[in-house]
Amino acid sequence: MTKPNLSHWPTFPTVSHYAMAVLSVAVAIIAAEIMTRLLNTEPIALSMLCAVIFAAWFGGFSPALLAIALAVLAFHYYLLPPINSFTWKHNLLAGGVSEVSRLILFSITSLFIAFMVSAQKEATEALRRSSGDLQAAVEDQKRIEAALLQSEMHLTEAQRLSRTGSFGWNVSSGEIFWSDETFRIFQSDHATKPTVELIVQRTHPEDRAAVQQTIDQASIDGKDFDHEYRLLMPDGSVKHVHAVARAARDASGGVEFRGAVTDVTFAKETERKLRRSEAYLAESERLSRTGSWAWDVRRREFVFRSPEAHRLLGLDPERDAAPAQPLWDCVHREDRDRVIEMVRQALREKTDFEGDYRIVLPDGSTRYVHAVGHPVLSDDGEVTELVGTHVDVTEQHLAKVALQEAVDEIKKSEDRLRLVIDTIPTLVWRAGPEGIPDFLNQPALDYTGISLDQATTAWPRAFHPDDRKGMLRKWSAIRDSGIRGELEARLRRFDGEYRWFLFQAEPLRDQSGNIAKWYGSSTDIEDRKRAEEELRRSEAKLTEAQRVSQTGSFGWNVSSGERFGSKEFFRILGYEDSRSVTFDMVLQRVHPEDRAFVEQTIDRASRDGKDAQYEHRLLMPDGSVKHVNVVAHAARDQAGQLEFIGAMVDVTSTRRAEEKLHNTQAELAHVARVTALGELTASIAHEVNQPLAAVVANADACLRWLDRETPDLVAARRSAEWVIDDASRASEVVRRVRALANKTDIEKVPLDLNNVIREVIALVQRELSSHRVSLRMELEPTLPKILGDRVQLQQVIINLVMNGIEAMQPVTDRPRELVVRSGRDETDQVLLSVTDGGVGISAENANRLFNAFFTTKASGLGMGLSICRSIVEAHGGRLSVSGNEGPGATFQFVLPLHQEDAL
Ligand code: ADP
Repeated sequence: MTKPNLSHWPTFPTVSHYAMAVLSVAVAIIAAEIMTRLLNTEPIALSMLCAVIFAAWFGGFSPALLAIALAVLAFHYYLLPPINSFTWKHNLLAGGVSEVSRLILFSITSLFIAFMVSAQKEATEALRRSSGDLQAAVEDQKRIEAALLQSEMHLTEAQRLSRTGSFGWNVSSGEIFWSDETFRIFQSDHATKPTVELIVQRTHPEDRAAVQQTIDQASIDGKDFDHEYRLLMPDGSVKHVHAVARAARDASGGVEFRGAVTDVTFAKETERKLRRSEAYLAESERLSRTGSWAWDVRRREFVFRSPEAHRLLGLDPERDAAPAQPLWDCVHREDRDRVIEMVRQALREKTDFEGDYRIVLPDGSTRYVHAVGHPVLSDDGEVTELVGTHVDVTEQHLAKVALQEAVDEIKKSEDRLRLVIDTIPTLVWRAGPEGIPDFLNQPALDYTGISLDQATTAWPRAFHPDDRKGMLRKWSAIRDSGIRGELEARLRRFDGEYRWFLFQAEPLRDQSGNIAKWYGSSTDIEDRKRAEEELRRSEAKLTEAQRVSQTGSFGWNVSSGERFGSKEFFRILGYEDSRSVTFDMVLQRVHPEDRAFVEQTIDRASRDGKDAQYEHRLLMPDGSVKHVNVVAHAARDQAGQLEFIGAMVDVTSTRRAEEKLHNTQAELAHVARVTALGELTASIAHEVNQPLAAVVANADACLRWLDRETPDLVAARRSAEWVIDDASRASEVVRRVRALANKTDIEKVPLDLNNVIREVIALVQRELSSHRVSLRMELEPTLPKILGDRVQLQQVIINLVMNGIEAMQPVTDRPRELVVRSGRDETDQVLLSVTDGGVGISAENANRLFNAFFTTKASGLGMGLSICRSIVEAHGGRLSVSGNEGPGATFQFVLPLHQEDAL
């Protein structure tokens, strides 16, 4: 507010001052007159003096002088006679000395007072004026100070808001000035004196050297500096500051820097975040294959394209510069016009656009792009820019195409499926959750002869009346269970014939798990039913057959322990009611002598999982003995578990028959042996004769030694010993012959086959020589033992040797040689062969040699080879014949090793 200027107060014009002097004198005269008249006093002098004072005070000294002149005049006039009358006085100069002195005194007094009053007034005026000036100056000062304070506040606020502090630095004095904001930036209190050291100390250790260098450099060359560095605050936080300083000269010519320091942490952080979000954006663009762009409509060029937008065009954003002009060329020729029109329309109508098109990359490949654009309008409503994105949707497009193809394929396969459903020889149906059919395939319709719209009611009626109730009950149970189920029932064909069907139903559930539909198939099992019937019948037959053949069947699942046995199986074991029979009870029936063997065999079979066949005896409760033959076949069930399926045959009668046969055979063999012995009589006689002759000779000699003059007892003893030896030899031959002739029981013992051969050869020696047959023995020295009956094996060998000798009978043109070999065959069994160079065997006879009563000899019995074969087979061996390369035949047999020697 502007204050009034006191020095320019409006003043009355000077004239008015003078007029006021005149007026005041006039008033004084009037007042003096009135008072004279009323009070009878003469106050003229006083009133004049008042008039002068007033004039002096009001108008100053000059008007006061006028008032004095007028007052003197009035006073003089007043003193002239007639006194106290203002009538005209003719003689103004008349008057006494006293009046004159009064006048002079009055004048001097008035002058003095006028001077004093006017001086006083002027002084007062001057004082008032200077006081006004002073007040104005003070007001100005206050105003300036307030403005200064305000601008300082603004500056401080501005510094605070802009986080910019100011500083001054006098290099020569080292004095540093900091603004409040600078203190705040450095987090120092105002009591701390700012120094270069403090600044360096606050600087981040990594930036300290650079800051020190900048300050040092500035202090040397006195040039402006501008640097950015970090501060490490006491609380561990880091600030980024930017300091700018301008150099100036101070009054003494020294260098002084004034500058600003800005806390750019926020800007730095923002920049970092911006960079990071830019990186994220670029990454998300890369991942989503989305490129962004901005198109300047007026300049007709791209003003921005993200790296991904480059990449989309097959360009490397780092290396290749994409042309700024439109890229219509990149757009697939077939899509180009459409794309141009789409963009133009967006520009024309100022609307967003969106569309798919193909672009062709420099390498010739095609990519599918989804483009979205948005026009940016200026204030005047014109389109200035188009901004938008390009998304590479090649994969999606290909997936879509593949999906479409898959859908087409599904459609096709659905058609095919429909065709299949309508052509398969199975009745297919579908029903709602409540079980009412709503679909039947063509075969179902054809079979029943009903139409699809009748399905709901006609289908249930097509079931056989006898089966319908059971079917409905089972169907309801399946639906209640909510899981796959099946039932069997007869279904009427269109021609009225009923056939058995297997109905299988499977529920289809919706997403919430509720049954949406039941799908089912009905398979014609008429044939199976018949087969089942057939099976039932054949099972009955089998049971009968088992009964007749005394064969029981059984099964045993090793893992589960499950067992079953046929009726006949338990009957053989002597159990009529099979239900309560346990495995232990089965084992109990096994003959005590065979039990260990049976248990071992079962154990081994279950361990090895191999087929087993064995024979054992049963001891029945009545003390009778049964022979059974068990055959068990190892197999795997559906779960891959080991199971045995087998048969137990009651072979008691067979065994008895065999026993009889065996006895008969033994008899026969005995007869044959005795017969053979008859043939060997000459040899035997010779065998016996030889030692007997020696006995006689040695006995003679002995006697002679005794009959001497001096009996030679030593020689006699030696002769007697020889007698004993020879007699033992003879007795051994006789023992062997007796053994052969004897009818002894078969006794299998471990034997060395070579020994058996040697014993036999001793017996046939004579036959060989009488038939002029030379014998060659090729015996393997270390032959493992076999288990056999000595006599029976001797019989076999004698037979073969004798046959060989006889076969060579007709041979006259070549040496007759018989070769007896022993050894081991390829399976390591013990082998014996007798090879002759005789007539050999004709092809037609080859198969009949071993038949009983087959002989080509006039006196032959034809039993020899037949008996030999049964003996060898009873030993677990095999007898065979083969032709030689040269003349003759070879008979050979193999025998298994004695168990102890087997390994
Ligand atoms: P037999 O000697 O009483 O005829 P075998 O059973 O011993 O009875 O022999 C049957 C037949 O086999 C003989 O009649 C003979 O024809 C033939 N045969 C046996 N051994 C030989 C052999 N080594 N060479 C040729 N034929 C043989």
